[in-house]
Amino acid sequence: MTALPSLYISHGSPMTAIQPGLVGERLAELAQQLPRPKAIVIATAHWLARQPHVGGAARPETIHDFYGFPQALFDIQYPAKGDPSLAAQVTELLDKAGLPTTLDPTQGLDHGAWVPLRLLYPKADIPVVPLSIQPQLGPIHQYTLGRALAPLRDEGVLVIGSGSITHNLHDFRAGYSEEREAPYVRPFIEWIERKLAEGDVPALLDYRRQAPFAERAHPTDEHLLPLFVALGAAGEDSRATRIDAGIDYGLLAMDTYRFDHVVTAQ
Ligand code: ZN
Repeated sequence: MTALPSLYISHGSPMTAIQPGLVGERLAELAQQLPRPKAIVIATAHWLARQPHVGGAARPETIHDFYGFPQALFDIQYPAKGDPSLAAQVTELLDKAGLPTTLDPTQGLDHGAWVPLRLLYPKADIPVVPLSIQPQLGPIHQYTLGRALAPLRDEGVLVIGSGSITHNLHDFRAGYSEEREAPYVRPFIEWIERKLAEGDVPALLDYRRQAPFAERAHPTDEHLLPLFVALGAAGEDSRATRIDAGIDYGLLAMDTYRFDHVVTAQ
């Protein structure tokens, strides 16, 4: 079986679910290019816990974890099954990597999970296991966690980190728009793209000191941390491909990255 790439997806506003725009097109194209996964493990920026939690529900509910949006969003269900045995396997892999992990039998799919999954796999016919992020433990922890999940790619499991390449919600009040982008967005996007292309993992893990406008792009970094899960899950030698889906509201960079493991010729 060919190993799957891992993915980092910028999920955007919940409105992406009913106005999928460019990211909707890009993710539909991406799903066509990928081998069909047996199951999905998705680390989401909207499930935060002090240590890793893995969702083991057989039928994870669709969580509408937002307020003040149109009723149409609250009416959406994403009825993918869970995969309790994969959830147990993820728990074991993380425990073995020295990351004590809790299996949560009831956790559903928050919008960081179901919004992008519905764009990738609208039929909801691939089982999904959600995974939490540990915002207080930083990039190295999330990268280590991703590394522990790398063997799953050989078993046909698609590992996804779901967040946003830039994510400063305070700036929604600053009057930016598609015509007037926040000035830090492009320099930050370009730095991430360059460091990923160079495979400069140490710089990426130290992005908060090294990247331009890091604290402006991420006042808190739970939306960038899933990038390190995906990067780690790709294994030691990986090639990053950026899928540009524009900048929503002049603020939210909608980049997706796929990380393909590089097989060196014998
Ligand atoms: Zn989000």
